Amino acid sequence: MSSPVRFMSFSSGSCGNCYYFECGGQAVLIDAGASIRSIKKAMVANGLSLDAVSAVLVTHDHLDHIRNLGSFCKRLNRPVYASAQLHKALEHHTFTAPHIGGCRRILEAGKWNPVGSMLVRFFEVPHDASHTCGFAIAAEDRKFFIMTDAGRVTDEAVSLASQADVVVIESNYDVDMLMGGPYPHELKMRICGGNGHLSNDECASAITRFWHPGLKAIFLCHLSENNNTHEAAYACSHAALEAVGAPVPGKAPACKVVPPPARGKEPEGREGVRQTGAFSGTPVLLRPLPREYPSPLFNL
Ligand SMILES: [Zn+2]
Ligand SMILES: [Zn+2]
Repeated sequence: MSSPVRFMSFSSGSCGNCYYFECGGQAVLIDAGASIRSIKKAMVANGLSLDAVSAVLVTHDHLDHIRNLGSFCKRLNRPVYASAQLHKALEHHTFTAPHIGGCRRILEAGKWNPVGSMLVRFFEVPHDASHTCGFAIAAEDRKFFIMTDAGRVTDEAVSLASQADVVVIESNYDVDMLMGGPYPHELKMRICGGNGHLSNDECASAITRFWHPGLKAIFLCHLSENNNTHEAAYACSHAALEAVGAPVPGKAPACKVVPPPARGKEPEGREGVRQTGAFSGTPVLLRPLPREYPSPLFNL
């Protein structure tokens, strides 16, 4: 029997990003864009403890990902893992410079780095920060993949995602909403220009490339508040899963205005399972992550 993975998001999007990943008795946070107070509160509500978090992994130095990294270092003093290039930027960043020194741990490029009992490999992601990375994490017999803030999807990202059984991937904007919306032209171009963010269509196209029968869950992260809806992001990725013949849940969850389910409640969308393709078995769990409040704690 495979080892259990526990995953939750504390916040996802331009308001702040922070994710929890646990497997094999070890827990790590990815990014530190949410406050320690809000993380603690959400963890306690789900029977978790911040004391059990052994490390923080950082994807890049935009404020929505590192706003609270300085206070994490100062108050929690946990090792902070990032690429050498990103650490260099964090050493000089106003929000992190005073406190990151003793917590600095460099992940070497092109290899699996030990982080406690886990192995972590970073891959470069096209995005307009000092250095942006996604992570593949191997823990016991499970593999986890996370890529947020991605201007486009590289072959390396597809290759690592196609080995993972839990994937977190950006699904930032709906093209029509972005182009028809009120943003200035330059900002629209920054978002869709290959060094910005991933559209729902690009996310869906990536899913058709990395989906494999062992994939258990896909979480859609960093949804834009102004240029996307949970329904649009879900529909695009759902269609992609149907197109590759993946077993998918037949009912889209209405995430947009629904507060997070109470602890222990089965997430919506498991019922009404439709087997549309050649593959049968447990449907892929597909969830857009809430922006400003914590997701449920997923046991996978
Ligand atoms: Zn971001
Ligand atoms: Zn960013």
